[in-house]
Amino acid sequence: MEKKNLYIQTFGCQMNVQDAQKMAVLLEASGYGTTDDPAQADLILVNTCSIREKAAQKIYSQLGRFRELKERNPHLLIGVCGCLAQQWGDRFFRRVPFLDMVVGTHQIHRLPEMIGELERAGGRIAETGFCDRVGSLEIPAQPAAGAVSAFVTIMQGCNNFCAYCVVPHLRGREQSRPLPEILREIEALAAQGIHEVTLLGQNVNSYGRALAEETDFTRLLGAIGKLPGIGRIRFTTSHPKDLSPQLIACFGEIASLCEHIHLPVQSGSDRVLKRMNRGYTAEAYRAKVAELRRVCPQISITSDVIVGFPGEEEEDFRQTLELMREVRFDNLFSFRYSEREGTAAVGMERPVGEGVKRERLSVLQALQAEHTLEKNRDCIGRQEAVLVEGANPNGSEEMTGRTRGNRIVHFPGRSGLIGKTVSVRIVEAFPHSLRGEAEQRGGADVH
Ligand code: SF4
Repeated sequence: MEKKNLYIQTFGCQMNVQDAQKMAVLLEASGYGTTDDPAQADLILVNTCSIREKAAQKIYSQLGRFRELKERNPHLLIGVCGCLAQQWGDRFFRRVPFLDMVVGTHQIHRLPEMIGELERAGGRIAETGFCDRVGSLEIPAQPAAGAVSAFVTIMQGCNNFCAYCVVPHLRGREQSRPLPEILREIEALAAQGIHEVTLLGQNVNSYGRALAEETDFTRLLGAIGKLPGIGRIRFTTSHPKDLSPQLIACFGEIASLCEHIHLPVQSGSDRVLKRMNRGYTAEAYRAKVAELRRVCPQISITSDVIVGFPGEEEEDFRQTLELMREVRFDNLFSFRYSEREGTAAVGMERPVGEGVKRERLSVLQALQAEHTLEKNRDCIGRQEAVLVEGANPNGSEEMTGRTRGNRIVHFPGRSGLIGKTVSVRIVEAFPHSLRGEAEQRGGADVH
């Protein structure tokens, strides 16, 4: 079979990165090998994201750059996949006339068939239907050669319908993978040398709800915790309303479960949380944080906040800052609210002006920067187990890895440490990372 080149550009979340790896695995069987150079490609796939307005704008401008390649090579096929493809469907052809293919979020497994059809008969194809069972969920992603960590999709879709969010509209309802299938994938990853897995899903806490077998997320964690070779388990993302006492208890019971949770709060005001349809109060959130810290005092807690949701008053915003001061998140991802087509928040009364949103975001980010630095400084003097991921990308003669609490650590070391867990004493703290010194035991590195 003649070898052809595939170039994939991915925007947005880790779920999209996973999907891109699955596309590469799928298309390998159709004779496509990946290339880093779009100019060499026979097929370009743009894996899109529509969570933020900015991402969508970037995607259109990137597609504009590929127009010239298509003019030079009329045999080049260009397709869009992911959330924006799902949202726009065949309307994408009007906006980007040189496009050949629009592939919805439930249609990835049909890529080889669609490309075969385009190669044979030409024309254009848009497939955006939802399926009862997402075919691509079953395809194991292929981590990069030499990687020490891998992401494993355990479920996709969401039933929650937060008022601002497009995910249930574009990824469909929750679907979970059967537990034995996930375990087989992780065993295979461990056999390839993967030491750390991050379990992925829009709301991993509700894993297993729609499966025929009786299972849940805590059982999955327990089963992975027993697999040899997997020293670290992480997961993302969790919904606070579904964070059960049993799941919190796992942080005290499963040795390989890392001491970090990403628990998006979105607002510290009950009024705003209600309008967002989040299903919990600020008090309930605080109680879950307190319980997490009781079970696992060293746990890192990170979160997401949206500022300027319609109807957010100064008092609501003040309550968000108050919650941040109480919880002191280790890190926080914060965003200005922007409207998403098809969501319940579209057209809600009392929209917040862009200037006010910008101002609130900068106040909030300044506060979080203080907290993050304080939390990083608290690490000075501690001995941390660091899983070494590679050389420090800034080019110095240092290695880079992560603590179990998900902090980035740089330390002097050699490349032979990649993939090993090294005991590092933290000596310096920065806004986004730590610096340390590796502990030597009898001249040997700690594994
Ligand atoms: S739980 Fe998360 S993915 Fe689901 S609707 Fe809410 S924000 Fe979106």
